[in-house]
Amino acid sequence: MKLTESILGPKKNLKGGARLPHRKGTAECQSVEMPTPKTVSILMSQHIGAPCEPTVKKGDTVYVGTVVGNSDAYVSAPIHSSVSGVVTEIKQVRLASGATTNAVVIESDGLDTVDPAIKPIEINTKQDLINAAKDCGLVGLGGAGFPAHVKLNIKDGAEYDTLIINGAECEPYITSDYRECMENYDDVMNGIYLIKEVLGFKHVVIGVEDNKPKAIKKLYDIAADKRDADNSVRLMKLKSSYPQGAEKVLIYTTTGRVLKMGQLPIDVGCVVMNITSVGTLYRYIKTGMPLVKKRLTVDGDAIKEPKNVIVPIGTSVGEVIDFCGGFSEEPEKVLFGGPMMGIAINNLSMAVTKHNNAILAFKPHYEQTTACIRCGRCVGACPMNLAPAAVETALKLDNVQKLEALNVNYCMECGSCAFVCPAKRPLTQTMRLAKAEVKRRGSK
Ligand code: SF4
Ligand code: SF4
Repeated sequence: MKLTESILGPKKNLKGGARLPHRKGTAECQSVEMPTPKTVSILMSQHIGAPCEPTVKKGDTVYVGTVVGNSDAYVSAPIHSSVSGVVTEIKQVRLASGATTNAVVIESDGLDTVDPAIKPIEINTKQDLINAAKDCGLVGLGGAGFPAHVKLNIKDGAEYDTLIINGAECEPYITSDYRECMENYDDVMNGIYLIKEVLGFKHVVIGVEDNKPKAIKKLYDIAADKRDADNSVRLMKLKSSYPQGAEKVLIYTTTGRVLKMGQLPIDVGCVVMNITSVGTLYRYIKTGMPLVKKRLTVDGDAIKEPKNVIVPIGTSVGEVIDFCGGFSEEPEKVLFGGPMMGIAINNLSMAVTKHNNAILAFKPHYEQTTACIRCGRCVGACPMNLAPAAVETALKLDNVQKLEALNVNYCMECGSCAFVCPAKRPLTQTMRLAKAEVKRRGSK
């Protein structure tokens, strides 16, 4: 097969969505390692599911890779130290969401001594792979933070055929997955083949947006890979349209399958994994070093020297920004994540967690909100076929029945509606509030 023939086009095109400016100015910035900070604050809530309990106490000595938090709950993932040193405190801290969690504060000895128990992992069975994902502390690294071992633990008898690798990275500014593909191609491909073989997927589709031609060129090698005699691992070039990387959207565009309310990807025969998650899992198997560092894109017009930085988990946002030259001027907002779905940070002492993929800081940009002009653009932009303007009216009228009828729970808070609204209505926030109202007072 010719190299170009190895590339698939999308099965379906994204409905709605928004054409965003890409602003991927850090795409060609090789990742740089940040020096080990003096202290790290390792949060016990770094994933979707049950938070961990600290497994260490004040005064304990820990190493790089030592487990410092764990939970008996199934939907959870262990948490490891990113430095060697001494635990100085266990304290309560506030998360960006407003909730609180325990944090293990560790003073680094500056030596980065690796935990002596760390050694490469042998994978012979499905259970070995699931255990590896769990012991690595792996969670969805595209920003979702769902524990990977739960995803890979497919029930006996389930019908599935396709592993989808999410390399879409559709949010503006963020290039951390792109750098994973460019810098760690072998880890990504070895991880893909391992998961495919051990779990028995018939097809693998690697979804990449067409605004990443260098990554696509690199992934041409898939066609020449001797492990792929039956051409079952294919690159799919997707249109650069937001939110192409949202799980439901990606399943639709790569397979044509529709995920109904409450369904999981496995219900339509798919497992979706982020490209950095797959590379990270392979590195864990190769070295035994769990997830203790994370690549972040640090960018935005208020950052002096935008970069891709590999950061020890638990480092404060302020230290990461200082490493990038600091602020060029006082920012109006600092975000964990992208401008569309990121969470605003009000305190630079907040710690980096596993599923953070970007820190963005922006100068003030004043936009005046005006009345809705009923143009319908928000409806056209919604990939879930929702009517945000009607939701806004129903919320104002406190009509919960109407909110239910408008299927607000289908909203994935992607922000496309707010982006296209000429009146600058805060529609994402409206949808969030509407979902909360239905949860609180709805009939189901
Ligand atoms: S209503 Fe929800 S899913 Fe639809 S565009 Fe707005 S934020 Fe995205
Ligand atoms: S896009 Fe904005 S102005 Fe247009 S209908 Fe929707 S809420 Fe109203």
